[in-house]
Order: sequence, then C-alpha cells, then structure tokens
Amino acid sequence: MTDRYAVFGNPIGHSKSPRIHALFAQQTGQDMDYAAILASVDGFAASIRDFVAGGGRGANVTVPFKEEAFRLATELTPRAQAAGAVNTLSFDSGRIRGDNTDGAGLVRDIAANRGATIAGSRVLILGAGGAARGVILPLLEQQPAAVFVANRTAEKAAGLATTFAVGGGGFDALAGRAFDLVINATSAGLADAALPLPAAVFAPGCLAYEMLYGRDTPFMAQASAAGATVADGLGMLVEQAAEAFFVWRGVRPDTAPVLAELRQG
Ligand code: NDP
Repeated sequence: MTDRYAVFGNPIGHSKSPRIHALFAQQTGQDMDYAAILASVDGFAASIRDFVAGGGRGANVTVPFKEEAFRLATELTPRAQAAGAVNTLSFDSGRIRGDNTDGAGLVRDIAANRGATIAGSRVLILGAGGAARGVILPLLEQQPAAVFVANRTAEKAAGLATTFAVGGGGFDALAGRAFDLVINATSAGLADAALPLPAAVFAPGCLAYEMLYGRDTPFMAQASAAGATVADGLGMLVEQAAEAFFVWRGVRPDTAPVLAELRQG
C-alpha cells in the first residue's frame, strides 16, 4: 500500500513540498504519496487526527502551526525541544514523534551546497522568531567561533542569548562588529523592508544567507553592496525536506537535481 504523507499549513497553496517529496520518492523508488493540506487556523489538531485515522504516516508542518505541532507531539527529538517548534511529525501506533529539520537543512545548505565552513567562523543571526530559534542549536553543533543574535525587539534576542549561551541584542549592538556568516532569519524581506545593518558587519569573504526564497530582498542587496556572497533560502527548503524524508524513510535523497529543477521554475 502507498504510504501517505502531507504538509499542513495555512495558507498552503504556494507550498513546494509536494513537488520536492514527489521528486525524492521518484528518485529513491519509495512508494509514497505526499499532499498539501489546508488546515483551518483553529483546526490543526483535528486535521492531523483525521489524517492519522486515514493511514497517514508522517507530516510536515509550516506556518502558523509549528508551535502547535510541538505541543501535539507525544515525544520530541532534542533538536525539536531546542527549537520549541516542530516541522516534521511521524505517526506510529498512537504515538506522535515531533522533530525539527529546519536547522539541519540550513547547516547542510551552507556547508555542503555553498561550501562555507561554519566551524571557527563568526556567525550573526538576524531575527529572534521561530526560524532563528530553530537554527541556533544546529549551528552551535558546528562549533563556530561565536554566535550573536540581533533582533528589532532587543529583549527577544536577549532571551535567546540566555537560553543558548550566545551573544544577543538590538541592531545597535552591531556597531563595530564583523561576521563571516550572516543569516537573515527575519521576515522583513516579505515587506521589502531593509534592516539597519552597518556595511562592516559583512566581513571580507562573508556569506550572507537570506532564509526567504523566491524574491530578491533588501537584505540581499545590502549584503551584495557590502561585497558579501549572497544565498537565498531555497536550498534550506530542499535540505530540510531531505532531512524529513530521511527521518521517515531512512533513505537520503540526492538534493542537487531537485534543487536544480526547482531553480528552473
Ligand atoms: P516569526 O514571525 O516567528 O519572526 C519574525 C522575525 O522577523 C522577528 O524576529 C521579527 O522581529 C523580525 N522582523 C519582522 N519584520 C521586521 C522588520 N521590518 N525589521 C526587522 N525585523 C523584522 O517568523 P519566522 O521566524 O517563522 O520566519 C522568519 C523568516 O524565515 C520567514 O520569512 C520565513 O519565510 C523564513 N523561513 C524560511 C525557511 C526555509 O526553509 N527557507 C524555513 C523557516 C522560515 P520582532 O521580534 O522585532 O518582531
């Protein structure tokens, strides 16, 4: 019987996950089906229950349900625990296992696809929302020289800084600092808003990573003007999907052809 998987979100029509997982399944010969399911804002848990009752084996979870998925899980992986959010659920005999593959996806895209070395480098994370929180532990596991979290609302950055024992503050705290890897985990690009970044935060040879994909953002323009190499978040999307695929199926797909196909549109 074909195993059933799906991504749950609201909205969900734009999701590239069904296409990505269909390509992974085809490539690895896995007998599975992957759908996109729109859950109502107050109907996530009921949607998941229906899906499990219908034989669903696993689910991805996207905006705005990652925190609710965290609460719904009956067991959590350490990286989901650290993230405080779940993007990957596995269903097995009444148990709901919550995982978070976003950080692993980011690290793999930066290290394997972009060839950047995180170990020993100075890392700046912009933003202190769910995406920022989810990537801090996987980044720390790569043993960077230092991690600093900067956020518009400085108290939120300070909170993450305390939780993960890293540096943190408002954007004004960036004066006089330079970083080898700058990750934009804010949603400012969605509103075409620029961030108040001194050009000097981008050290020579810096990789500037925009988690958003599908559009050029003011952050990308700022980083490029400062001489940084710029990456968008499409690779992270494909890599977090590959990590979820591995969690479910025990098989690691080759992401390069899938990423290339998505870039073609
Ligand atoms: P949240 O809503 O949890 O957090 C948003 C963050 O952006 C906050 O830190 C907020 O600051 C900051 N922010 C929003 N607008 C501005 C602005 N105009 N200027 C400065 N800071 C701003 O969102 P998420 O953390 O869930 O997601 C962040 C981004 O990451 C999204 O754009 C999302 O699409 C992307 N993402 C990409 C993934 C991928 O696979 N490529 C995976 C996950 C996320 P404040 O606290 O002050 O409000």
